[in-house]
Amino acid sequence: MAAPDTLASRSLASVWHPCTQMKRHEADPPVAIARAQGPWLYGVDGQRYLDGISSWWVNLFGHGHPHIQAALTDQLARLDHVMLAGFTHAPVVELSERLAALTGLGHAFYGSDGASATEIALKMSAHYWRNQGQPAKSRFVGLAGGYHGETVGALAVTDIALFRQAYGPLVRLADTVPSPDARGAQPGESARDVALRAARALETWLAEHHATTAALILEPLVQCAAGMLMHDAEYLRQARALCDRYAVHLVADEIAVGFGRTGSMFAHQQAGMRPDFICLSKGLTGGTLALSAVLTTDDIYAAFYDDEVARGFLHSHSYTGNPLACRAALATLELFEQTDALARNARLARAIDAACAPLAAHPRVRHARRQGMIWAWDVHTTLPDFARRYHQHAMARGLLLRPIGHTLYAMPPYVLDDEAVQHLATAALAALDATLADEPATPAPAEERLP
Ligand SMILES: *Cc1c(COP(=O)(O)O)cnc(C)c1O
Repeated sequence: MAAPDTLASRSLASVWHPCTQMKRHEADPPVAIARAQGPWLYGVDGQRYLDGISSWWVNLFGHGHPHIQAALTDQLARLDHVMLAGFTHAPVVELSERLAALTGLGHAFYGSDGASATEIALKMSAHYWRNQGQPAKSRFVGLAGGYHGETVGALAVTDIALFRQAYGPLVRLADTVPSPDARGAQPGESARDVALRAARALETWLAEHHATTAALILEPLVQCAAGMLMHDAEYLRQARALCDRYAVHLVADEIAVGFGRTGSMFAHQQAGMRPDFICLSKGLTGGTLALSAVLTTDDIYAAFYDDEVARGFLHSHSYTGNPLACRAALATLELFEQTDALARNARLARAIDAACAPLAAHPRVRHARRQGMIWAWDVHTTLPDFARRYHQHAMARGLLLRPIGHTLYAMPPYVLDDEAVQHLATAALAALDATLADEPATPAPAEERLP
C-alpha cells in the first residue's frame, strides 16, 4: 500500500498509468523518482536504480546529459515553438538534412511519438499507390509478433494479442507472415536458414496478395516488444528483393532499434539495403522529448507533388517539428560523433557480455542472445507472473529491468562505467535467483507479456 499523501498515493488517485492494471498498484505502488543522472534514477527516498532498460528504450547517453541540456536551454531562449505548416526554422531543417545524410532518404515528415510515425508511413504508402492509380493497394502485412504502436491504426499491424484483443472490432487487421526469429531454428539450421525459410513464406504471401498490398512493415534485426526476437540480416535483404519484385513498399520501423541500438546507426544498414520508409522516435531526442520522424524517398515524395491539393499529404500534428525536440535530436546526433559512440558501444558490449556470462550460463536460461546493445535471456520457469516478480526483486537491488513474459532483457544507456556494468550483472543474476526461489511446486497457467 502507498502511504497517504506520498507522491505514489497521489499518483494513484489522479494519474492513469500506461500499460498497467491499476489495481495491481494497491500491493505494489509506483516508484516516485526525484531526479536522474547518467544511467541512474534516484527515488524521492534517496534509493538509486540503474536504468537497465533506458526508460522504455528511449535514453541513449544517460539522463541529464549536459550537451543536450545546453542545446535545449539555448533553443528555449530563441524559439520555443512555431507551427510547421507555412513556417520553418533552423532546427527542423538541420535535423532533416542530417537524417537524410545518415540514411539516404531525403524527405522527413514529423510526428510526436512512435505510433504516429507508424501511421504516417502506412497512410503515405497507401496514398502513394492511390496517387499512382492503384487504389486497390491499400492493405498491409507485418511479421508475426510485430509491434508498431498502440493507437488504432498502429494496432492494425501490431501482432501482440494482449495489446490488441480488447480492440478487435475497431481495427482493420493486417495479415502477418512468419517471423524470422532465430530461435525457430530446427536442429542443424542456422539463423540464416530460418531467415531464408521465413522469406520463402513472405514470397508465397506476396505472390498471392501483392495487388492489394501497399506495404510490408517490420522491425529490422530485433522484434523488441515481442520479447527481443532477433533475426539474421539476410531476411531484410530477401524482403527488400521481394518487395521490389512485387511492387510493395518496405517500411523499416526503427523506432526501438535505431540510433546505435543494434550496433550500427540504423539496423537495416547491416543488411546493406534501403527501405522506402524509415520510422524513428524513442532515441531520436536522446530520451528527452517526444518526437518522431518518417523518412522517405524522392520517388514517394514526387508522387504527392502536384498542382492538385488532394494529391498532397494533408496530415498534421500540432507539435510537428517542434524546435526544442529537434534541437535535442541534433544534440543527440552530435554526441554520436563527439563520443565515437558506435565504437565505444562495441567495447562496452564486450564488457557487459563478460560480466553477464554467469547469467547466460545459468541453468534456467535458454537462448542467451545479443544484438548490439540489446541483451536477452529466456528463463525456463513455471511462474506465471515471472516478469512482475523479477521486476520487484531487481528494484529491491537497485536495478530497473522489466522482463517481457519469460524473457529477461537489458537495453541500457550507452554510458555505463565499470561500476554500473558490474551492478547490472550482479543484481540481474541475484534477482533471477531470488525470483526462481518463489516458484511454487506445481506450475500455474497463463503468462503475461508486458514490455
Ligand atoms: C515503442 C515502439 C513503437 C511505438 O512508439 P510510441 O512512442 O510508444 O507510440 C512503435 N514501433 C516500435 C518498434 C516500438 O518499439
